[in-house]
Amino acid sequence: MQNLVILGSTGSIGTSTLDVVARHPDKFRVVALTANSQIDLMFMQCMQFKPRYAVMLDEGIATRLRQRLREAGQAIEVLSGAAALEQVSVLPETDTVMAAIVGAAGLQPTLAAARAGKKILLANKETLVMAGNVFMDAVRASGSVLLPIDSEHNAIFQALPRGYNGDLAGNGVRRILLTASGGPFRNTPLDELQNVTPEQACAHPNWVMGRKISVDSASMMNKGLEVIEAHWLFNAGADDIQVVVHPQSVIHSLVEYVDGSVLAQLGNPDMRTPIAYGLAYPERIDAGVAPLDLFKVATMNFTAPDLGRFPCLALAYRALRAAGTAPAILNAANEVAVAAFLDKRISFLSIPRVIEAVLDALPVNAVGSLDDVLGADGEARRAAQQQIRQL
Ligand code: NAD
Ligand code: MG
Repeated sequence: MQNLVILGSTGSIGTSTLDVVARHPDKFRVVALTANSQIDLMFMQCMQFKPRYAVMLDEGIATRLRQRLREAGQAIEVLSGAAALEQVSVLPETDTVMAAIVGAAGLQPTLAAARAGKKILLANKETLVMAGNVFMDAVRASGSVLLPIDSEHNAIFQALPRGYNGDLAGNGVRRILLTASGGPFRNTPLDELQNVTPEQACAHPNWVMGRKISVDSASMMNKGLEVIEAHWLFNAGADDIQVVVHPQSVIHSLVEYVDGSVLAQLGNPDMRTPIAYGLAYPERIDAGVAPLDLFKVATMNFTAPDLGRFPCLALAYRALRAAGTAPAILNAANEVAVAAFLDKRISFLSIPRVIEAVLDALPVNAVGSLDDVLGADGEARRAAQQQIRQL
């Protein structure tokens, strides 16, 4: 029996995780569920999975949930606040933490889980983008098992040798090929991009995801964040990672070896596959995913990314090469710009402009600790807000 904490249980990854968990009641027990504000869905999840703890970020919402659960006769302890996210992640009874909070809010509980040596299923890529070295050091020091849930990184993990030690060349790997769908605006005429709406940006052709990552996919910042994520997970340099646009999203990524072999992982675009892989690793369990019908796929296409159309991808490579606090600055500026776009305060094309201006304005420092990361994050958020006011 694996005892599971799901950080961000009401989100897209969180609900897909619970879908897989529900198929295997003999294998997984839910210790804690956490969410920002979605009380109705959290209540339903509590009734179905009966965790020991439920965490809501806001104390007022937590009070209402406590009341409703008591009335329903459920003895579930309801906690609130960011500290409670860390608290449930490090409980002695917790074996595995699914890190599925969106954005920088996911960093500290995920890091706490790493320091406590928990098995971590990492969906929250922002953790690695912001604090890659601090987080990877914590994973190594505690001996925590880290399994990537992001579909591309899960594919690469599967295509690398079992027990891969962080030495690409030593394992005969020439490079990593990170596939990208190209998002909803892959073929949109450039002069129309100025006026695209949040609704259009969130209508992804292949994946149903939260709004922030949907906008990131539309700008291809998601792929940029994933390049940085791959750097930390696999100890790969910027030049070792090639982005390949593959609109069908059937090949989830590939590893190219020096002998000419290229190993790929394929499947229907359904996050339950990497989630089930992470949950059951090193075994395989049913994920409820339909078998891949290659005859229906029929054709697969591959093109190089258009950096003129998607400047966010180039900005992410720039931040990766600049190292230190640069990726944390990139991430924070992106979060602020995406939130402003979703609020209809800035246009889609202003997203990369804000990020570039913030990267130009702020100094890049070395990262020695979490405080260095949080300092850069705060500074970049303020700088991004200022850029937005000046637009
Ligand atoms: P989502 O917006 O659907 O869900 C986010 C979850 O985090 C919700 O449960 C929400 O309540 C919680 N949350 C939000 N802000 C919070 C805060 N400040 N404090 C505490 N909890 C908070 O997002 P998602 O699409 O499920 O993505 C989650 C993470 O997984 C992101 O980092 C994303 O990049 C990554 N990811 C998602 C997908 C996907 O298919 N959705 C694929 C790969 C990676
Ligand atoms: Mg991905």
